[in-house]
Amino acid sequence: MLIEHSTAATLTIDLGAIAQNWRFLGTRAGSSSPPKAGPTAASTSTTAACAAVVKADAYGLGVAEVGPALYQAGCRDFFVALVDEGIQLRTLIGPDATVYVLHGPQPSAEIECAQHALVPVLNSPDQFQRWSNLAKMRGERLPAALQVDTGMRRLGFDPGDFEALSSESFAAARLSGIEPILLMSHLVSAEDPADPINRIQLEQFEIARKSWPGLRCSLANSSGIFLGPAWHFDLLRPGAALYGVAPVLNQHNPMRPVIRLQAPIIQIRTIAPGDRVGYNHTWRASRPTRVATLSVGYADGYLRSLSNRAMVRFMGQTAPLIGRVSMDTITVDVTDMPAHQLTPGAQFDLIDSAHDINQVATEAGTNAYEILTSLGPRYRRRYLAA
Ligand SMILES: *Cc1c(COP(=O)(O)O)cnc(C)c1O
Repeated sequence: MLIEHSTAATLTIDLGAIAQNWRFLGTRAGSSSPPKAGPTAASTSTTAACAAVVKADAYGLGVAEVGPALYQAGCRDFFVALVDEGIQLRTLIGPDATVYVLHGPQPSAEIECAQHALVPVLNSPDQFQRWSNLAKMRGERLPAALQVDTGMRRLGFDPGDFEALSSESFAAARLSGIEPILLMSHLVSAEDPADPINRIQLEQFEIARKSWPGLRCSLANSSGIFLGPAWHFDLLRPGAALYGVAPVLNQHNPMRPVIRLQAPIIQIRTIAPGDRVGYNHTWRASRPTRVATLSVGYADGYLRSLSNRAMVRFMGQTAPLIGRVSMDTITVDVTDMPAHQLTPGAQFDLIDSAHDINQVATEAGTNAYEILTSLGPRYRRRYLAA
């Protein structure tokens, strides 16, 4: 439990921005125009429905809040990775929503999957067989998504196995007790429109879906939505972009920023030229330097690779992080900032709309997905209502 005047850093999560990002992505369906305008000036053409990927606790932002916000915004197709995540999500949203489990069930988890009305993504002949066995045992048809591997070599039927399954086709799948309700695959490099793998995967997917006429199809993750309408099919499957991650490499980010991370000053001191700061003394002062110590560290998922690289902000001004990121603290050079406002308790912005997760990811040498999913449990979390 956090006391009222804790030094804990504050993570603010804008549920309204997530809902707006979801609506915006939905309006991209069938559209090939470049993403200029952003969520506030969206077109109205809709051909594909828009799902929401909320695996890994909604990318670290809290599925207990994000799930209901998206449901209220109108989302009726949700994807999680694990059966456990699906069971939790089912308690948070209405029974008219479909919850897909990307990993499919582990052996003997099929019963739980069915009991909680989860739709497994069947990724292999083995998973297909086990789901079919359960259906026969229960004497009912159980819905499932089928995933075909078009290049990721991670999850999904090998094209050969899929062809074998398809040659038996719909009717046979029904006889085996399985009611396929979605055919899907996952893109390898969709954030890079110039990568030829995007078209190769599209072609592979087109081949796979020929054997299943009429079956609902889904290929595009967040970035895939921006490859163009050919990749859209019937159901868009964004995760990252809902949470503010830029969907296209080196291009204007049309998504609304979703999180703000603030950490308070705990202590301020002035050090002399030649003094060194932090573990292993990796930063050395070349002038009299005022150092502010802030309450956030790698235990909070503020990555250690941001050492000597991140920029933080205070009242619109920018200051560099100096020295190593510690477990619970970082140190910032505030020499050039207005001294009288820099007092213990004053809040610095580490991630905000002026310096978002995408920029912090660049500083950390990783992607924005890892910044989000690393956000720790120690923050004071504030949710802005949708
Ligand atoms: C995680 C995931 C997504 C969402 O991808 P984003 O890049 O976050 O939009 C979609 N489909 C599958 C199969 C996934 O694993």
